[in-house]
Amino acid sequence: KGKKAGRRQVVAFDPDMLGDERHRRFIERELRAALLMDELELHYQPVFGADMRVRSHEALLRWKHTVRGMIPPAQFIAIAEESDLIDKLGEWVLRRACADLETLRTPVAVNVSPAQLRRSDFARQLGLVVEEMGVDPGMLIVEVTETVPMVAGAVEQANLDAIRALGLKVAIDDFGAGHASLQYLRGFAFDIIKIDRTYIANLGDNRIDAMIVGAICDIARSLKVDVIAEGVETEAQLDMLRRAGCSAFQGYLLGRPAPLKRLAVADAA
Ligand code: C2E
Ligand code: MG
Ligand code: MG
Ligand code: MG
Repeated sequence: KGKKAGRRQVVAFDPDMLGDERHRRFIERELRAALLMDELELHYQPVFGADMRVRSHEALLRWKHTVRGMIPPAQFIAIAEESDLIDKLGEWVLRRACADLETLRTPVAVNVSPAQLRRSDFARQLGLVVEEMGVDPGMLIVEVTETVPMVAGAVEQANLDAIRALGLKVAIDDFGAGHASLQYLRGFAFDIIKIDRTYIANLGDNRIDAMIVGAICDIARSLKVDVIAEGVETEAQLDMLRRAGCSAFQGYLLGRPAPLKRLAVADAA
């Protein structure tokens, strides 16, 4: 495997090439090498509570390619999802996040791909890693994105139930962005709703978006689950969210994703 990694080609990166099967395979191979060569990194973005204190961090995967520089997750997660690579990536993310918990001293949310949740032994494997890492499961949050197949998926629901039984929390990510948000709500038990940032972006000038955000906050209150607004970029949005009854906030206004080292420095300052 080391030999393979040593012979990696150097090719200029062009996102348009991702549609090309040959280049997808190329990226997949590069990503497998990146896992071995420690080119992956987690950045952490703070989530603030109503009291404006940091209440958790979200782990966001970064690929620092030696030749191409930083490659964002949207560009490689989809390719990883086509093979077992997503499981390896997911386990790497979980282990890294568990190891960083001690420094962060807040709960940490990790993103889990629908492809991972489809594996019948996902929750069991996750439980083994959490136990091996010796962390408090109550300090971990699993973020899942709504997808149509998941509404009906028995395996996914069993995994999510098992994850909660282990003591982790489950968050619905990008809520409202998919096709079946309301169905999703009654599909399984969860602890947190994250309102998709497209609703936050137009809060100032779109009355409908403001109504939808208010309604989601009402539903969350009725269900007694937490609600986090994603992509908060302006003070005006923050004000409107507070008035809508939202109680937790994440976005560039309050804190950008940053490597652990930089977060630790900010804490000490
Ligand atoms: P997500 O889980 O919804 O993460 C939020 C995304 O919004 C992140 O993009 C974050 O950097 C960005 N963001 C945060 N605040 C703001 C803001 O105020 N304005 C704007 N415009 N954007 C903001 P990022 O890091 O590029 O990640 C994109 C997506 O990739 C994530 O969306 C998540 O679905 C996926 N992803 C990231 N890390 C992982 C991972 O470890 N595993 C899996 N399966 N997926 C991951
Ligand atoms: Mg997320
Ligand atoms: Mg999101
Ligand atoms: Mg997402």
